[in-house]
Amino acid sequence: MSAGSSTIGPSTMPADLPASSTSLVDDLLSSPFDPILLLDEAGNLRAFNRGADELFGLAAFRGAPADSISSLEPVRAVLGQTAGGFPVWDTPSGRSFVIQPVAAPSGGRLVLLRDVTDWRQLNIKLSDLMHIVSHDLRTPLTAIKSYAELLVDSYFGEMSPEQQVALEKLTLGIYGMVSLVDNLQAADRFDPRKGLYKTEREPVDASQIAQKVLDALQLPAEIQDITLELDVDPAVPIMRADPLMLERALANLAENALKYSAEGTKIIVRITSDRDSVLFAVTDQGRGIAPEDYVRIFERGVRVDQQGQKRVRGSGLGLFVVQSVAQRHGGTVWVESALEQGSTFYLKLPIRGEATVG
Ligand code: ADP
Repeated sequence: MSAGSSTIGPSTMPADLPASSTSLVDDLLSSPFDPILLLDEAGNLRAFNRGADELFGLAAFRGAPADSISSLEPVRAVLGQTAGGFPVWDTPSGRSFVIQPVAAPSGGRLVLLRDVTDWRQLNIKLSDLMHIVSHDLRTPLTAIKSYAELLVDSYFGEMSPEQQVALEKLTLGIYGMVSLVDNLQAADRFDPRKGLYKTEREPVDASQIAQKVLDALQLPAEIQDITLELDVDPAVPIMRADPLMLERALANLAENALKYSAEGTKIIVRITSDRDSVLFAVTDQGRGIAPEDYVRIFERGVRVDQQGQKRVRGSGLGLFVVQSVAQRHGGTVWVESALEQGSTFYLKLPIRGEATVG
């Protein structure tokens, strides 16, 4: 690749700039910043900075149509995209760039390439760490949970009411930890290299998965005196989905319903379908959600504590996992709620795998 500031000159600049600004712009273009390209309205390469020249070897192509410059193929691919978001491009030499086109005041387009190599590496390391931690915690936690369940069921003998209450609190805490580890493992299936969740779809029986989720939550529900109900329309067909991811999504919705509901209430999981999709609706009679939070609660790490309400522990990961599962299946998730009355979370997924993403 050609390099160096000598290939970039004022000749690439609009002619009507005063001499002082031309040299200022020239200085900017020859500085070692992230790559920048300027395309005119016809798609010709009008200007570029040193970073872009070093990356794409552009010196010989000034003024040429961007379409004719083969090294710009990744940029062209992004410019041709209609969907939103800024994709990450991994170069063969191991660097990573976010390609971000913006409208230039002159009518053409500025293309900024943000070097995110360090951030990408850090993300991969973080993901590896999450993998190790969640994996190593899962085994001892499973054993602790099993013993706690045996104790709660008086398998080792009757306990005093105080001991029973203490043990139930301990058990709920353990369930919370298991759920966190499960979510870390689900989040661990997020591939920072591709920016996508790994999904493996197969034919699944939605009602079986929902039943499994509710069975696993029976004990914490009993401890909190909350009734769990499953209501499946018999017409719901076998669907193509990733069974583990679907289970995590439903488990998070049901666990949240439990966490944010008061004793003596009811949670209903309903499953219905239409021609193209299966709709899961998880309804609780809990504390509800304010309309201004309907969207942001699905963001990673976002938690909302309502004033005057009992503080509930959490990681802010649950609904993010649910939304990711929906996106990866080409589906959607949303909530309808009324404060102090309860919420219904809807998860709508396509029945057929072909309609799914990735
Ligand atoms: P966490 O429960 O760990 O905080 P989530 O991502 O699962 O994280 O949920 C984000 C926020 O959404 C919660 O902090 C809570 O305020 C709200 N929320 C989720 N589910 C419910 C529910 N069923 N009822 C009321 N609020 C809920």
